[in-house]
Amino acid sequence: MTQNIKEYTPRDVFAGDAAARRSPRVIISPQRYIQGDGVLNQLGRYLSVVYSARPAILITERGLARVGERVIRSLEQDGIKPVSLVFGGECSDEEIERLVKQLQGCAVDAVIAVGGGKCLDAGKCLAHCRSVPVIICPTLASTDAPCSAVSVMYTPEGAFDRPWFFPDGPALVLVDTGVIVRAPVRYLIAGMGDAMSTFYEARTCFRNPDARTMVGARPTAAAVAIAELGSRILFENGVMALEAVSRLEVNEAVENVVEANTLLSGLGFESGGLAAAHGVAQVMPMIPFIHKNYLHGEMVAMGLLTHLCLEGETDEAARIARFFAQIGLPVHLGQLSLNVDRHNLELDNIVSEALKIFFVHNESFEVTAQKLKQALLQASELGGKITLEMGDEAYRHLHAS
Ligand SMILES: [Zn+2]
Repeated sequence: MTQNIKEYTPRDVFAGDAAARRSPRVIISPQRYIQGDGVLNQLGRYLSVVYSARPAILITERGLARVGERVIRSLEQDGIKPVSLVFGGECSDEEIERLVKQLQGCAVDAVIAVGGGKCLDAGKCLAHCRSVPVIICPTLASTDAPCSAVSVMYTPEGAFDRPWFFPDGPALVLVDTGVIVRAPVRYLIAGMGDAMSTFYEARTCFRNPDARTMVGARPTAAAVAIAELGSRILFENGVMALEAVSRLEVNEAVENVVEANTLLSGLGFESGGLAAAHGVAQVMPMIPFIHKNYLHGEMVAMGLLTHLCLEGETDEAARIARFFAQIGLPVHLGQLSLNVDRHNLELDNIVSEALKIFFVHNESFEVTAQKLKQALLQASELGGKITLEMGDEAYRHLHAS
C-alpha cells in the first residue's frame, strides 16, 4: 500500500450481515461514459463537466506517440495547460509512489489517464492519492478496467498483488473508437474474451445466494442483464467488427463491440461478480512465459471454457469455443504455450493459486483442486478438437503484434 493512503475496503461497507447471510444488491458505475469516433479531439470541452482547469496527464510511451499531440492540442484549444507524466509500465505501489512524488508541489485538479489497462489503473490510484477525479481515456478496448472503481495491483515484476478499491468510480470515461480501431487488432480480440466471460460469471453469482461481488455485495439483476447483452452483442457483431477494423473503419458493429468490451463488461463484472473464469485467468501471469506473451483477455478466454466445464455446461463451452476459434482467442492450453504433460507442475500451481481467490468459490458447489484441474484439462481437450475442426487461420494476430 502506497504510504499515507488509507485503504478503502468496500466489503466492510457492503457485505451486510454476514451471520444472517444477507447482503444488499449494489450497482457501481462511472459517472459518465462517452464513446465515439474522434471524441478525444473534444477532451478539453468534456473536461468542463468535471470542472478541471489544471489536470495531470498520465500517458504511456506508446499512447504519447499515438495520440499525445492530439490530446494536448485539444486541451490547449480550451486554454488548459496539463502537467504530463509518462507511465512506467507496471501498476505497482512503487510506480504509484514515483508518480505521486513527481506531482509533489503541482496544484492539479484532475488526473487524465490515457493508455491501456495498467496505465488507466495507475491513473485511478494517482487520482485517489491526490483526492481528485480521474478521467479515463482508453486507447485499447482490451479489458473491462476503464469503468471500474478498482485497480489491479502488480509487483514490479508483474505478478498479481491485490485489488485496490476506491470509493469513487471514474468521473468520466472517454472512448475514442477511431483510436481503438487503429490499435493492433489483438487487443480488441482479447477484450472480447474478457467481455464474453462477464455474463457467465455474473450468472453464476446471481444464481448462488451465497456468492458475492468484488465489493462484497449481491449482484444486481441489472448487471446480469447488461452482461448478457454484452455476450449477445459479441456473438452478433464480433466477426463483422473485426472485418471493419481490418479496413480501419468505425461502423456500428465496431461501436457495439467496443461498448460491450468496455462499458457492458465493466458494469457487468463490477456489479455482477466474478467466478472461476477470472480466478484461473488472474493467476496465470505468475508463469513468466504467459505473463510475457499473452493478454488478460486471452487468459480469460481459457478461464471461461474452464468455468463452463466446471459447471458441466459443455455444450455452451463448445459454442463459445467455436466463436473464439473464429475470432482468434485461445481455446486450448497449447495456445497459451502450456503443454499438458510438460507443464503439469505449472497447471497444478495455477489450480492451487486460483483456489486462494475468494470469487473462485462463488459457485454453488464446492470447488476443489481436483474439479478445477479436471475442468481445465477438459476445456483444453474440447478446444483442441474445435481447432482441429475449424483450423487456426484466425490466430495470425497472435504473432503479428
Ligand atoms: Zn477481466
